[in-house]
Amino acid sequence: MSDLFIDGAWRAALDERTREIRCPADGSLVGVVDEAGGKDTAEAIVAARRAFDTGPWPRTAPAERGDLLLRVAALLVRDKEALARAESLDTGKRLVESAYDIDDIVNCFRYFGRLVTEETDRVVDTGREDVDSRVVNEPVGVCALITPWNYPLLQTAWKVAPALAAGNTFVLKPSELTPHTAIHLLRLLDEAGLPPGVGNLVLGAGPEAGAPLGDHPDVDLISFTGGLQTGRRLMAAAAGTVKKIALELGGKNPNIVFADADFDTAVDMALTAVFLHSGQVCSAGARLLVEDSLHDRFVDEVVRRASLIRLGGPFDERAQTGPLISAAHRAKVEAYVAQGLAEGAVLRCGGERPSGPGLDEGFYYSPTVLDGCTADMSVVREESFGPVLTVERFTGEDEAVRLANDTIYGLAGAVWTTDEAKAARTAARLRLGTVWINDYHPYVPQAEWGGFKQSGFGRELGPSGLAEYRETKHVWRNTAPAPQGWFA
Ligand code: NAD
Repeated sequence: MSDLFIDGAWRAALDERTREIRCPADGSLVGVVDEAGGKDTAEAIVAARRAFDTGPWPRTAPAERGDLLLRVAALLVRDKEALARAESLDTGKRLVESAYDIDDIVNCFRYFGRLVTEETDRVVDTGREDVDSRVVNEPVGVCALITPWNYPLLQTAWKVAPALAAGNTFVLKPSELTPHTAIHLLRLLDEAGLPPGVGNLVLGAGPEAGAPLGDHPDVDLISFTGGLQTGRRLMAAAAGTVKKIALELGGKNPNIVFADADFDTAVDMALTAVFLHSGQVCSAGARLLVEDSLHDRFVDEVVRRASLIRLGGPFDERAQTGPLISAAHRAKVEAYVAQGLAEGAVLRCGGERPSGPGLDEGFYYSPTVLDGCTADMSVVREESFGPVLTVERFTGEDEAVRLANDTIYGLAGAVWTTDEAKAARTAARLRLGTVWINDYHPYVPQAEWGGFKQSGFGRELGPSGLAEYRETKHVWRNTAPAPQGWFA
């Protein structure tokens, strides 16, 4: 069966190109998928435009659109096992983590399915009897949804669910490295009864399959999650036709531990913050800031436990985390570590490719802790997006805040202290889209997700997640039109 979904039909790429997908854990062949070129993407845009301009979906009642999302949620539950397996094979992620992701994805579809049915138009009180004035919500139009490889279906769900709930049509371009769960989702949307042309899928590399979405005049909105450089490129491309654009870019997230923190929990969660999914998490707590008086004891314990982390493939139940996504990505992580050491960081553990049964064929990299870091090092400033923890010291709240904010990013971060007032003060001063206090990584679909500064703009999830995919229109109706006589 072919893998591009355009105008309600599955088909191959026009130039019949394909791509092999291999599991990062062992290099085994997962599948061969069709690979779109610019002409395929152009056809998908035409289909989405037609479905928006003349199809039923944008005019379907919100409650009916919500019902479809709830049906999709039920189908996702039905197919959870197959989806989790497919996600793990594409990403190398542990099966248990993929299964959690599917639960979150189900919740996302449920959340937007319900949210869209709860809203009503806003009546504006003009104080006049001859006027009926209201603000109504309308879909934006054709949405280009471009997603990364680290949480492939979750990032896709965060875009597809609100885009559909608001009545838009879309062209989805997932990462070329992890296409299988996107294919599965489009099958489920079709099964749930989405009209032809509303949801379109193009697979393939960014410059070929994705770039045409950036400047096409028939695309009204771009929602992009991925790297900073690609985000900048898309923002520039979108400028020509003044598209709406939402960017969820990277992060270099501070995890601030004050000396009065609950030691055991803070150590435990410092490990989770950075080594979950081998650090390939936009909100990873890759920048540990530890108060001077706690530093040695805290870092010794982090290093001791990081050295014990068991690596393995998706179906190895003893594994605690998995491989990196590709050989090229591992090489990038290695280069950041080398650069950090050259700039004066001290290697406390890791910094190498592990070897042993089950590890040699995959793109593994040992959990790494670099101590003695400073805010000017490239390994601290830039996203390595791997299992690399950098450690900096600070004394007192002011220095903690100053260091934490000394970055171009502003996605997420955490504060660890048993002093509630200090936690509140610090959280208020951090220029971050999400601040966790005495916790790391939890999120709920009801709360907004998004970054400050160069981590992007626009919000996903929460009520404003739906607003991103909408135009609001003020409709003023004069109920008693009559000449005004200004120029009589
Ligand atoms: P990437 O920017 O390389 O690719 C993301 C997507 O953009 C892929 O689908 C890719 O094919 C496509 N793309 C690449 N070049 C393109 C172009 N010129 N035009 C159109 N599309 C193009 O990012 P990645 O390596 O896949 O993902 C990792 C990055 O994603 C990290 O920086 C991470 O922080 C970020 N991320 C952010 C969030 C968030 O919520 N803020 C969440 C997950 C990942």
